[in-house]
Amino acid sequence: MDQQLVVYNSLSGKKEAFTPLVEGHVGIYVCGPTVYSNVHLGNCRTFISFDIIFRYLKYLGYKVRYVRNITDAGHLENDEDAGEDRISKRARLEQLEPMEVVQRYTVDFHNTLATFNTLPPSIEPTATGHIMEQIELIKTLVDKGMAYEVNGSVYFDVLKYNQHHQYGILSKRNIEDLIHNTRTLDGQIDKKNPQDFALWKKAEPQHIMRWPSPWGVGFPGWHLECTAMSTKYLGETFDIHGGGMDLKFPHHECEIAQATAIHQKAPVRYWLHANMLTLNGKKMAKSTGNNILPHELFSGENKLFSKAYSPEVVRFFMLQAHYRSIVDISEAALAAAEKGYQRLLEALTQLATLETAATNAFDFESWQARCHAAMNDDFNTPVLIAHLFDAAKAIKSAHNNQLDIDAATKEKLQKQLEVFIKEVLGLEMKLQHKKQSADDGLATATISLLLELRDQARLKRDFETADQIRDALLALNIQPNDGKDGTTFNIQ
Ligand code: AMP
Ligand code: ZN
Repeated sequence: MDQQLVVYNSLSGKKEAFTPLVEGHVGIYVCGPTVYSNVHLGNCRTFISFDIIFRYLKYLGYKVRYVRNITDAGHLENDEDAGEDRISKRARLEQLEPMEVVQRYTVDFHNTLATFNTLPPSIEPTATGHIMEQIELIKTLVDKGMAYEVNGSVYFDVLKYNQHHQYGILSKRNIEDLIHNTRTLDGQIDKKNPQDFALWKKAEPQHIMRWPSPWGVGFPGWHLECTAMSTKYLGETFDIHGGGMDLKFPHHECEIAQATAIHQKAPVRYWLHANMLTLNGKKMAKSTGNNILPHELFSGENKLFSKAYSPEVVRFFMLQAHYRSIVDISEAALAAAEKGYQRLLEALTQLATLETAATNAFDFESWQARCHAAMNDDFNTPVLIAHLFDAAKAIKSAHNNQLDIDAATKEKLQKQLEVFIKEVLGLEMKLQHKKQSADDGLATATISLLLELRDQARLKRDFETADQIRDALLALNIQPNDGKDGTTFNIQ
């Protein structure tokens, strides 16, 4: 493919040609979930967005190292260093070990993402598994005079950093405005300035997650874990860093500041941010209760929608929007996605049985180039899907003898459609199985007919035919059960 991949870099606010640091290889880090409750559909959207990016980079032939962490310590209730640790709090409320909370919701996260057919990352490190690395980074920052210790906690000195660098470079915030607007929250009294952020927090006696450090017993700040883990597995500078839009500030801004202060160079070449899923026009969020859990959507057991929607329909619905656009979930949109997806899969079935012509009027190469151009334009899945529908339309015309498709084109189109749908978009094409369950009725009727013929043969004492039928059914793993009310069967 001689097209260049272009990505929208939140740092420059522009689309840029993507060239990895090391030819043929891509390093990507995505902020993972804080595992203190079940992932809601909004969280899933962000991870599905990056699954598409991971899949397409692989499709382009890159060897991708995809690191996505699990935040199992350090994320406080308020993103700005105040309140209780989210996991500690849940453990206290549920009377569990914090690691039981972590385990429960990590499993939920994995299971949910697997239902959505997202690929696992190459490395999934945890914050608690990297306490040593975080302590080392803090020591370096203290040595460099970029961080200070107060009363067992260590804070990053934002104003000092800003003397030589630009705090706010990613979120486009201005330090003066930040100084003006930052409130002092409970638990922040130790800070020199309210916009400084915690690298290490002293653990109060009731705080159950605690580790020894040169500054006493405590726990790491949230922002630091991502710098520790991304640098460890991808290097001081790596290709792509991703996360939801809402993480730009303060989380990603702080990551940039920490890493730049330590290594004297920018940590990330391309910052990619996925937009939010909204419900009733408002961001889906755990804290506000404005959310739906994926399993409630799949089972139909919820008050928001009239019926159940399968994971791949929900995934297809999300992919019909670009990852940088806001998507509002609604019954009408889900129902339309279901219909559209079904239509796409029907086109594939039609293509499989299509009688080919000697001549060809479908320009496969230019269609394929348009599909690639869509994805190369910052992973534009809605445009790719529109091109897939164009192909579906052409297939329908061919099916109705209004367009010629020759054998070679049919084969190429079949292969490429499957690759786009399954590999690139990660849709499992399970809806087709609906057709199979319709066939199940047919199969039952056919087996019953055979059993009836067998009964008639037995009545006529034609045991040879009766046994022949039974053996043929057994060979298909169908077990006839002769009872006094007739013969039933089960499929093994
Ligand atoms: P958290 O577990 O709260 O740290 O969130 C995990 C990921 O989900 C982060 O990348 C968030 O940006 C993302 N996220 C949270 N709410 C939404 C939403 N409504 N839509 C899309 N992504 C979200
Ligand atoms: Zn992070």
